[in-house]
Amino acid sequence: MSHKLLTVTLNPAIDINYPIRDFQIDKVQRTKQSFKSAGGKGLNVARVAHLLDLNVCCTGIVGGHFGEWLKADLDRSNMAHQFISSPVETRLCIAINSDHSQTEILESGATHPTEMPQQFLAHFAKLITDYDFITISGSLPKGFDTMYYVRLLEIAHEAQKKVCMDTSGDALKSAILHSQHCPPYLIKPNSEELAMLTNDSASRDVRAILTAPHLAHIPNIMLSQGAEGAVLRTKEACYQYTIPKIKVVNPVGSGDSSVAGFCYGLAQTQSPVEATKYAMAAGVCNAMEHRTGYIDLTNYQHVLSQIHCTKVAQQHD
Ligand code: ADP
Repeated sequence: MSHKLLTVTLNPAIDINYPIRDFQIDKVQRTKQSFKSAGGKGLNVARVAHLLDLNVCCTGIVGGHFGEWLKADLDRSNMAHQFISSPVETRLCIAINSDHSQTEILESGATHPTEMPQQFLAHFAKLITDYDFITISGSLPKGFDTMYYVRLLEIAHEAQKKVCMDTSGDALKSAILHSQHCPPYLIKPNSEELAMLTNDSASRDVRAILTAPHLAHIPNIMLSQGAEGAVLRTKEACYQYTIPKIKVVNPVGSGDSSVAGFCYGLAQTQSPVEATKYAMAAGVCNAMEHRTGYIDLTNYQHVLSQIHCTKVAQQHD
């Protein structure tokens, strides 16, 4: 497949998972098993896109021995990467899964030197010429101001590249409010993130949120709704997507998988309305697996055939 995807993860991590059946605090706990992998939302997107056979490359900032380990882990999965290096060690995120709980310890990461934001902008501007789509996922590292994603959007817009954005909090808010001249092609908030964007946590009326004037410049908004599927707002209309009922194993990473599915669907169909079906299928398939950012391709086409889309409103009606 010729379509090329660049996934941006500015704040990646090494995810460490310890399954400890009877985990108790205040005790020495021993474990025979530990799973370590390159982590971060953008790397989940990349993994699923790679499984779907998109030609994908990961970029972002890594540092120290853990940064080297992260790149080696991607090499082991035959995934291309073009990170820049920082003197700041890549962070660790630890999850302890027991029969009755999940405990997570997430390092926020140390502050990068002041020249790193500028260095990455230059790296990004050079890199994107080779790619058809860009995804920008996750949080900003410490020391990057909340307008930073707007800078990336400006560079991508200048190069006429489509950007799918999946972030939250102030980084998302700034990117939305200051991107009239360089809108992302798609944003994929969940209900909580969209309500925050519109300062309207009380609203249950999805259409009212999706027609908010300050979101009008964004061509496609995919409001993902977990087991309820999603709503897509394009420039023309709103669509509701229903998904099959499944036995949920682990829905962590389903949002990232749906971003990967969207890029794959766009490469296949060039239609955001169709691509959202591919997005839903990837999200559902991820929720059926233990591993985060993984889908079983033998399920994918079958799940895709069970995604249904209905137009629920024409814009401005
Ligand atoms: P996020 O992970 O960003 O919060 P969602 O939880 O909305 O995103 O998940 C994205 C997509 O993954 C959903 O639109 C749906 O297609 C699929 N998905 C998520 N959770 C489930 C679930 N419990 N059952 C089936 N599909 C799910």
